Amino acid sequence: MNNGKITFGWDLCYTCNYRCPYCGVWEQKSGKDILLSPQEWRHIWHDLYKKYGSAHIFVSGGEPSTYPDFFELARMLSDEHTLEICTNLSWDTDKLIPEISNNVLRIAPTFHPAFAKFEEFFERAVRIKEYLPNFQIYYVAYPGQIEEMPERSRKFKKEGISLIPLPLRGNGFVLNSEAEKKIVEEVSPYKGEKLLYQLQRISPKGRLCRAGQHYAVIRTDGRVDRCSQYSDGSVGNILDKDFMLYKEPLHCIKDYCPIESQWILENE
Ligand code: SF4
Repeated sequence: MNNGKITFGWDLCYTCNYRCPYCGVWEQKSGKDILLSPQEWRHIWHDLYKKYGSAHIFVSGGEPSTYPDFFELARMLSDEHTLEICTNLSWDTDKLIPEISNNVLRIAPTFHPAFAKFEEFFERAVRIKEYLPNFQIYYVAYPGQIEEMPERSRKFKKEGISLIPLPLRGNGFVLNSEAEKKIVEEVSPYKGEKLLYQLQRISPKGRLCRAGQHYAVIRTDGRVDRCSQYSDGSVGNILDKDFMLYKEPLHCIKDYCPIESQWILENE
């Protein structure tokens, strides 16, 4: 869907209507302190459109649908950009579907068993199948819910949907045991380097990577990081009128690349 466009990850808010035991994002305090309003974001994304053309925006959080006026904001942004919403799928998707076409909008749901019933999540995901990115849904490989993962994966597969296990992470490391990693390997449709990076079997350190150049992550206050693993704002601030992405790929200094390894250059 991104067709060679610049891709931006975007932490819109850190609020969430769930309290999953493996996620500390909802403990961050953006409930009261959303720094940028929908109008400000609209201007920012319009300026980025003028600078880089239509971008692919991967909006995440927290749960983006808990941001005030989220649906109005999503409609506005989809005039100029393509939008992918990382969500727990607890909201009414009729608010955006079918009004916005699946050429422009994708919905990337993660199942959270502590707060959602599987049957309900399953039905909702199947109903919006044409809007799922690559017909995929996500599932955190948390010890308390990993046993059910293979069966749930089979059920989705019958509907032509892939369940993507997300290894459990904390403090820059993968936290799953070897036995749990094996389940992830068996269930995951990913093979090769993508899976090896996810499970921290290989390190990105020293690799040239286009994160920061063709891709970057915008935080709630406008700071921009290379990818989700960095939090130094080294790409700049989106509120700066002279904001520019890196001009070239740079070496990675991290030990773990759990999510965005597709930006690593293959033949350096
Ligand atoms: S290799 Fe991975 S962790 Fe390193 S900059 Fe690229 S995307 Fe980020």
